Amino acid sequence: MNLIIFGPPGAGKGTQAVRLEDKYGLKQLATGDMLRAEVASGSELGQKLKDIMDSGQLVSDDIIVEIIAERISKADCENGFILDGFPRTVPQAEALDDMLKNMKRDLDHVIVLDVDQDILIDRIIQRNKETGGSRADDTPETLKKRLDVYNEQTAPVLPYFESKGLLRNIDGMASIDDVTAAIEAILDIK
Ligand code: ADP
Repeated sequence: MNLIIFGPPGAGKGTQAVRLEDKYGLKQLATGDMLRAEVASGSELGQKLKDIMDSGQLVSDDIIVEIIAERISKADCENGFILDGFPRTVPQAEALDDMLKNMKRDLDHVIVLDVDQDILIDRIIQRNKETGGSRADDTPETLKKRLDVYNEQTAPVLPYFESKGLLRNIDGMASIDDVTAAIEAILDIK
C-alpha cells in the first residue's frame, strides 16, 4: 500500500505517518527530515538548503525529486511507503507519477488532513516551545510564510489527485487518536 499524507505545515502529518508505519508495515518518507539530515551533514548542498528552509520557501523540485526517486526504490519501501511532505508542487506530483509508472507501482490513497489554519499557528508555536525551538522555521513569522507557500504552491496539487479519485479527506482538527482511527477506517476498508 502506497500513501501520501497531505496537509499544511503543523497539520499532524508526521505524527500520523509514524503510527501507520507500525500498524501497516509501511516506510515513512518525510522530506523535511531528509532535508534536515542533509543540512546536519554540513555539506555544501546542506548549507544552501538550510537558508531556503529557514526562510520558509520550498527547495527546488529537481533536488527533492531526485532524493525521493532514490529513496523510494530502496528495499525498505517494497512493502509500501507513506510520503510525508512530498509532493509539494504540481511538478513534483507529475514527477511522482512518472516514477511510479516506471516502477509499475500505484498510489492507493492521498489522505488529506483538513485543518483550520489559524489554529495551526497556535499549535506550531506550542510545538516550538515544547521542543525548545529546535526548528529554525517554526517561528510565527516563518510559519505564516510556510502557510502562504502551502496555499499558493502546494494546495494546487489537490485537484490533480482529485481527478485521479485518490483524495480521502479527514478532519485534522480531531484528537490525534480520532484522526488515526479515521485514517485506519479508510485503509482497512478500501
Ligand atoms: P512542515 O512541518 O512545515 O510540513 P517539513 O518538515 O515537511 O515541514 O519541511 C520543512 C521544509 O523543508 C519546508 O518548509 C521546505 O523548505 C522543505 N521541504 C520539505 N519537503 C519539500 C518538498 N517536497 N519540496 C520542496 N521543499 C520541501
